[in-house]
Amino acid sequence: MLQLKDLRKSYHVGDTVTHALDDVSISFRNQEFVAILGPSGSGKTTLLNVVGGLDRYDSGDLIINGKSTKNFKETDWDAYRNNSVGFVFQNYNLISHLSIIANVELGMNLSGVSATERHKRAMDALTQVGLKEHISKNPNQLSGGQMQRVAIARALANDPDILLCDEPTGALDTETSEQIMKLIKELSKDRLVVMVTHNPKLAQEYATRIVNFQDGKVLNDSNPFIPKEEKDTFKLKHTKMSYWNAIKLSFTNIMTKKGRTTLTAFASSIGIISIAVVLALSNGFQKQIDTTMSKALAKYPVTINQTATDASSVTDRDESEKNVKNRGYLTVEKDKMQESTHQNKINPEYVNYIKKINPNYANNISYQRGINMNLLTRSKNKIKRVQFSPISTSSDSSQAAAQMRMQAISATGLGSSVFPTTLNSSKSNFLKENYQLLSGAWPHKATDLVLVTDNENKLNINIIKNLGLKAKAGEKLNYQKFVGKKFKVVDNDDYYQKLPTGMFIPQKISNSMYDNSKTQMQIVGVIRPKDENSMALLSSGIAYSDQLSQKIIKKNKKSEIVRAQKKTEQNVMTGQDMNAREKKQMLQSIGGSTIPTSIMIYPNDFDAKDKVLDYLDRWNQGKKKKDKIIYTDMSRAVTSMTGGLLNGVTTVLVAFAAISLVTSMIMIGILTYTSVLERTKEIGILKALGARKKDITRVFDAETFILGVFSGILGVVVAWLLVFPINSILYSITDLANVAQLNPIHALILILISTVLTMVGGHLPARMAAKKDAAIALRSE
Ligand code: ADP
Repeated sequence: MLQLKDLRKSYHVGDTVTHALDDVSISFRNQEFVAILGPSGSGKTTLLNVVGGLDRYDSGDLIINGKSTKNFKETDWDAYRNNSVGFVFQNYNLISHLSIIANVELGMNLSGVSATERHKRAMDALTQVGLKEHISKNPNQLSGGQMQRVAIARALANDPDILLCDEPTGALDTETSEQIMKLIKELSKDRLVVMVTHNPKLAQEYATRIVNFQDGKVLNDSNPFIPKEEKDTFKLKHTKMSYWNAIKLSFTNIMTKKGRTTLTAFASSIGIISIAVVLALSNGFQKQIDTTMSKALAKYPVTINQTATDASSVTDRDESEKNVKNRGYLTVEKDKMQESTHQNKINPEYVNYIKKINPNYANNISYQRGINMNLLTRSKNKIKRVQFSPISTSSDSSQAAAQMRMQAISATGLGSSVFPTTLNSSKSNFLKENYQLLSGAWPHKATDLVLVTDNENKLNINIIKNLGLKAKAGEKLNYQKFVGKKFKVVDNDDYYQKLPTGMFIPQKISNSMYDNSKTQMQIVGVIRPKDENSMALLSSGIAYSDQLSQKIIKKNKKSEIVRAQKKTEQNVMTGQDMNAREKKQMLQSIGGSTIPTSIMIYPNDFDAKDKVLDYLDRWNQGKKKKDKIIYTDMSRAVTSMTGGLLNGVTTVLVAFAAISLVTSMIMIGILTYTSVLERTKEIGILKALGARKKDITRVFDAETFILGVFSGILGVVVAWLLVFPINSILYSITDLANVAQLNPIHALILILISTVLTMVGGHLPARMAAKKDAAIALRSE
């Protein structure tokens, strides 16, 4: 039973106040057909909207089944509309993009009726209004009378206690009107029907009770009802639209504007496309770099020098020391270079440790011992001094580059190098792997030397001269001139002469000096780097074995000059004062130290590299900082540098591309806003059917969700398609195949980003839609 008590409702527009409901009190029976008659503007629709819970009254009370609605919350009204009230409007208010059956099912979607039950009830309702045959049609394929029947079926589907009809026949011809009135009359047998009309004839003919309305007041009532006190039997089932239903609803809406949606989705996907392409490219380039670099660089030696740079100890500037004022004094700063320089204590134990490295990981290890050999050669019966390392060849800029390369490689300088010692002769051999034998043989004995030329079989003229040979620039020399060439190493005690002052100078060379030497060496072969990719780390000139260095050091360790040098801080040859380091170097050069100045470990392959580094790290475990041995991994430095560079470029490009994402977000916002305007009527209908604010927001969020997912997928697909032409262009330019590669994880993340961004962009208009007043929304055209 429905009871209105002293209901008032007024509208304030500017200074004018319209009392749409002015102290209205009516009680309705549970089952009757009430017609509200009155001229236009008398407040009939307002009454209907208030009774139906679409509009709120200002004062008075509306009592439903004994329950006052004074303290109703928004959601209670929503539930009330959904559970207890069915609306029939003059202009039908069907949702045009939904089929007839879907229109009828809409209200039940909100009350959480199961799909099969929904369909059954909708079918029953449509049968009841005589539209069984037309269920799959769209509203605009029906006549006005049929549309009103659909609207009635929709109002009936939830089996409401109250049916509210606002001029249900206002837009229909007389004959159809009669039919609709008959239908409504039929329905009033089971429930309360309140019908607003300004047609007294229809009211007279069909209604069981007529209430006349004027200026918001009840003028007269043909069959008033004085209710008895009623117990509160009111029950509400709260409504809720599921996300899935919101998506379905929005999807059908979107499908009605495919062209616009596709265009918008495409426009907003451009950001995704550009980001995806940038990522695919950088991804691919990184992979290319990683594979080629690590392949090429994996075998780059890990170097252990006596002094290493310890990056970890380069202290950052103290932030608090920024913008220091003039304090009237200056502060002495520590030497940062020195700070970051780490002295590696390479001792015999460490050398032994390195020797025991697994040949399966690193089979080739070279040692630099800083020794300067006392070399002689005989050509045409004349004895000459020989140097494997010329002092300086030229000072052009390429030398700087060469020196950079050599720094880690050759302690003796340009013109000679020590080739790595092979741990296991049955495994990879550094020389054979990276060099090609031009003439002669590979070295076998400790005293076997090889002559190394550059890629173009060239050799610096000074190197040749230093070997005691004559040469003119441009001259073509036969390999035989070198292969077989013999040199002798003279022991320190035979080579140096001690002066009365205690100083040492090289003696005059002689045939007997040459003949007395028992260490004879011989060039056994001429080699050159195999190809561009090989590890041609030996410098041009003579390359010899570490066994040779060790042999000479063994002989000279106890020599007079070494013993003398050990005792004094002055250079025994020049008389100059030396610091500890210079003394060490001096001792090394005359063969007084067995400790290598640097060690280079050549990992066998990419995988072995990590094992080698692990092995080196293990030495440092548990050691104090100053006792640690810091190694240099050149390949890692190079790869991380290019990696960092690429990351930087990628970030910048992605940032640019992201701008277009923001643009598309704004666009989606505008689109949703338009959609909200377009769907105002629908919002009203949904609310009349009991939709909560949340449900309305959900419907529009669902729409942007679909758009976001769609544009994300579209963007990723387009980007993926673009990868093919991009790759073929790159292939023709760079010879690199399949550079651009779209990472599926990136693709997924991008779709996610697109969805989230579009939803963010559309959420504000969606909230706006939810706030729309239901009564006003329904009045809108
Ligand atoms: P009827 O349905 O009898 O034609 P209404 O209930 O639509 O009458 O309107 C009653 C009065 O309230 C009218 O004067 C109308 O102008 C006014 N009114 C209705 N809705 C609004 C509104 N949203 N804002 C201002 N005035 C309104």
